[in-house]
Amino acid sequence: AFEGLSEKLNGVFKRLKSRGKLSEADVKEAMREVKMALLEADVSYKVVKDFIAKVTERSVGEEVLKSLTPGQQVIKIVNDELIKLMGEANSKINFPNKPPCIIMMCGLQGSGKTTHAAKLAKMFKKEGKRPLLIAADVYRPAAIEQLKVVGERAEVAVFEMGQIDPRKIVKEGIKHAKDYGNDLVIIDTAGRLHIDEELMNELKDIKKIAEPNEIMLVVDAMIGQDAVKVASSFDEALGIDSVILTKLDSDTRGGAALSVLAVTGKPIKFVGMGEKLDEFEAFHPERMASRILGMGDMLTLIEKATQTVDEKDAKKLAEKMQEKGFDLNDLLEQMKQIQKMGSMKSIIRMLPGANKVTDEQVEQGEVQLKKTEAMINSMTRAEREKPAIIDPKRKRRIAAGSGTQVSDVNQLLKQFEQMQKMMKQFGIGGNLHGKKSRRN
Ligand code: GDP
Ligand code: MG
Repeated sequence: AFEGLSEKLNGVFKRLKSRGKLSEADVKEAMREVKMALLEADVSYKVVKDFIAKVTERSVGEEVLKSLTPGQQVIKIVNDELIKLMGEANSKINFPNKPPCIIMMCGLQGSGKTTHAAKLAKMFKKEGKRPLLIAADVYRPAAIEQLKVVGERAEVAVFEMGQIDPRKIVKEGIKHAKDYGNDLVIIDTAGRLHIDEELMNELKDIKKIAEPNEIMLVVDAMIGQDAVKVASSFDEALGIDSVILTKLDSDTRGGAALSVLAVTGKPIKFVGMGEKLDEFEAFHPERMASRILGMGDMLTLIEKATQTVDEKDAKKLAEKMQEKGFDLNDLLEQMKQIQKMGSMKSIIRMLPGANKVTDEQVEQGEVQLKKTEAMINSMTRAEREKPAIIDPKRKRRIAAGSGTQVSDVNQLLKQFEQMQKMMKQFGIGGNLHGKKSRRN
């Protein structure tokens, strides 16, 4: 998401940065470009207008223009105002004193309700809750089946009664949750391609029956400007508490993230970044702002890494590396850890400069990762521990076993050797030749 917008803003800011002194006219010229970039990114017109007015006012102030780095000051102001536009980070769900907490998901068809019901359930389960998913989208048998599939993936119970009146299902489902001690109920409701009265009436009825603690609107970021319209309509008809913005991994213009709060007054609490259940995170306005400005999002990446990589495993690995050196078994382990963090695409998107990485390059990277894994899997234990013994005959066997070419095996071994050289600089002994190593 945001490729187009951050690229454009980057261009503007690069020019600003390179200037020592700025005049009021320079700032206004830059703001015209920022305005165009925001409009093109589908940010709502009124939001853009207010935004530009605020940034301009602050930027042409004496202290900015007279400072040593006026360009950077302006960038900082844009960043500050972007954050303000998106509100404060707030992904808290208030659990009532008397369980269960009830979350009702709503949104248009295909926005990601079912997927995100399961993502939420998985997240809360990790936090020690006992979620129950209720299948209240009864119009297609496939919808119930889909919830069961993702529920199983999240290892969370799913309550369903087939294709009967969703009002009854919700009523029975909540009773079931109370009987079985589920402290969190997430209701997956039906959507339509467009907002219509029938859909809204059904949702209103479900709201009356369930008395949800939180009504979450699931919005597909790919629909651009319409996201804000959808949010406003659902809010008017049903009253929503918060928004989950989905498909931010796709090639969207992303302006929705900037206008939802400003237009509806409802915060974005979570964002979806992929189809996998882990590709989900709390919405952080400051991180989103720096992502929009093209600075990457190291914080999110670091948080993800610490969440996924088991600390004990990491410690064990570090100890082993110091004692015995780093071999191909460790490389394989590392690659598995990386894959646990989510798809390569969602990881790369968070790195600074990621705007310049094309989808094709990401795919190539993913293919490369899979190839490497296959090659190491085709090696014997001895070969992994002591790659030096891999002679041409072994190389041919490994290539055949992993569906790769001997040249791929050569490349892997060469890269691994370089990695080991690098590791040595950090005091971690190489094990390429199977020698027990010492720290420098
Ligand atoms: P629903 O009709 O609102 O319940 O939407 P679904 O949960 O069935 O999602 C519709 C489609 O979008 C499915 O193919 C999902 O796998 C996909 N999807 C959902 N969330 C995301 C996301 O964050 N990123 C991407 N790329 N796809 C998603
Ligand atoms: Mg669904």
